[in-house]
Parts: sequence; structure tokens; C-alpha cells
Amino acid sequence: EAKTAGRNAVRFFDPAMQAILVVRMLLESNLRVALANNQFQLYYQVQVNSEGKLIGAEALLRWIHPDRGFISPADFIPLAEETGLIIPIGLWVLETACAQIKQWESSKETRHLTLAVNVSAKQFQQPDFVDTLSEIIRRHKIDATRLKIELTESTVLDNVDATTEKMHELKKLGIAFSMDDFGTGYSSLAYLQRLPLNQLKIDQSFVRDLSHDENDATIVRAIISLGVNLGLNVIAEGVETSAQRAFLIAHNCYAFQGYYFSKPLPLEGFHALLKAPESDQI
Ligand code: C2E
Ligand code: MG
Ligand code: MG
Ligand code: MG
Repeated sequence: EAKTAGRNAVRFFDPAMQAILVVRMLLESNLRVALANNQFQLYYQVQVNSEGKLIGAEALLRWIHPDRGFISPADFIPLAEETGLIIPIGLWVLETACAQIKQWESSKETRHLTLAVNVSAKQFQQPDFVDTLSEIIRRHKIDATRLKIELTESTVLDNVDATTEKMHELKKLGIAFSMDDFGTGYSSLAYLQRLPLNQLKIDQSFVRDLSHDENDATIVRAIISLGVNLGLNVIAEGVETSAQRAFLIAHNCYAFQGYYFSKPLPLEGFHALLKAPESDQI
């Protein structure tokens, strides 16, 4: 009995702990079902330049559960990573994204778009990741320069030599790399210089309070100059206001993503945005 075992004894049947485990197991088995039953969908969020022209999109995963509705990636990506389910899920994302690029290639309104895909550490660190992605690109017969992979600082720094080598191999195919959530990790200048990156993506936490937080404004200015000095392009995520956009332009950041332009949309919504007459003033 727990009481006689004393305060510091391990409690095997802690009901709270057991509830957490049950919820996790349920979520895990639901994730497997989701994969088998096509409950995943890609949403697309526009990326625009300073003239308001649409330059591309970021693919963002959505889980549409038949009973529970919309489940945010923040609520299932971490478990998918822990259980390894991120491998087949991430594969589905890459397949779907490459099929989408193929479709965009067939029309002159969409041919120029790049599609950014988030790849998690566990997925990128698979020994066969380069072969797997090369095969997908060949099979879909796409121009690989339309594909951009978003990695986080921790993914890269986790295993910097192996990751850098993979990035170089994929870059040879034409694939571009963006460092997502930049500024929240611990990249050193030495690493940044060595990595075959194309883009730094300023984390939205710094963009949010840009107008009234002097520290955030300083960080954003520093990230932009760092990117410019390294010859990288810089994009800001989480842009919600015209004041944030104006600040960014004033400090030499000319690419944006955020609710000010559009929320992530299902494919039909994204295409409607492309066709809208005001789309060149987004
Ligand atoms: P992320 O890659 O940094 O994506 C940006 C997140 O910010 C997205 O959240 C997007 O919906 C949200 N966002 C965009 N504009 C704004 C804005 O103006 N204001 C605010 N408050 N938020 C904005 P989402 O879609 O919930 O995705 C969360 C995270 O889940 C992503 O962060 C990414 O790390 C991960 N994720 C999403 N899709 C995938 C995927 O296919 N594979 C992997 N491995 N991770 C994914
Ligand atoms: Mg991202
Ligand atoms: Mg991000
Ligand atoms: Mg993020």
C-alpha cells in the first residue's frame, strides 16, 4: 500500500500519471489511424515580398480528426517525433508537397512559387533521408529549386557534421534551406558560415512586439544584418500588422509571412487568393 511505503516511495499506480499515459497511447493509436485514413491535410500560407507579390508558400500540416475536428501540429508533432511516427507522416508531407509543386509547374501563374516544408530533426537525421527525398523528386519529375526545407537550429546543431553533409548533397539537387525560428537557438557564427543555407527565418516571437519592445527590435535588426552579411535572404514570420511590415522593410527585410497577409489556407483557399484581383497588392 502506498501509505505504508512512505512519502518517497515510487507509486506504481499514480492515477494522474496513468491518465497521462492512457491519453498518450490513445493519441498515438489515433495518429496511426490518421495516417492510414488520410486525415492529414496540408495548409498553405503565403509568403510575399515588399511589393506584395506572392513569392511562395509554407506547407503546414493539419490533422482533421473525424470527431475532434482540427488538431494543431503543436499538439501532435512532439508525440509523433517521440514515437517515430514523424517518419511516415513526414514522408506523406514531402510526397504531397512535391505533387503540389508538380501541379504548380503546369501553370504560368504558379510556376514561380517556392514551397517550404518543415522537416523535423528525427526525419532529417534518418540515414536514408537524402536518397528518399531524391527518389520522390525524380518520381514527381519536379524542378527541385521550387522546394525549400525548413530546419531549426537544434536540428542542425544536434549533429552538425552529418547534417551539413546532407544539406550539401540536397543543395546539389537544387533544394534550398531556410533556418526556421531563427534567433531562438544557439547557432554560432562559425556554424552559420559553414552551413549551405539560403535563408534565415526570423522567429515570430521577436516580430510580435517589434513596435513596443526595444529588445525585440534590436534582435530583429541584428538578425537581418547577420543574414545580409552572410549573403542570405531573410524572411520574417508572424507578421500581423502594417507597422511590423514597415519596420522590417526599413531595416532591409523584404520577405514576409503572417496573418497580416493571410492565415494558412487549405489548397482551394490558397488558389482563390492567387486568382483574386487584389492578389498583387496583398
Ligand atoms: P513553424 O514552422 O514555425 O510555422 C509557423 C507557425 O506560425 C504556424 O503554426 C503558423 O500557422 C503560425 N503563424 C503564421 N503566421 C502567424 C501570425 O501572423 N501570427 C501567429 N500568431 N502565428 C502565425 P502551425 O501551423 O500551428 O504550426 C506550428 C509548428 O508545427 C510549425 O512551426 C512547425 O514547427 C510544426 N509543423 C507544422 N507542419 C509541419 C510538418 O509538416 N512537419 C513538421 N515536422 N513540423 C510541422
Ligand atoms: Mg516553418
Ligand atoms: Mg517558424
Ligand atoms: Mg515555430
